[in-house]
Amino acid sequence: MKLILLLMLLASAGKSQADKVYVCKSGTSYAYHNRLCQGLRKCTHRIDTVTIREAMATGHKKPCGYCYGR
Ligand SMILES: [Zn+2]
Repeated sequence: MKLILLLMLLASAGKSQADKVYVCKSGTSYAYHNRLCQGLRKCTHRIDTVTIREAMATGHKKPCGYCYGR
């Protein structure tokens, strides 16, 4: 019984919270962010949290220079 419980725990931990990123829904933004950085604060539109895959699909193909640049 204990072993089964352990396996279940491991299985759920493996899923992780699929890398969420922030994107600005401005239509002209092309970067995704991993936190609310200064670049994202300039966003005057809605800020969404999406998976990296969703960010790419909506045209945010570049990692933000502020978030990922250091
Ligand atoms: Zn950023």
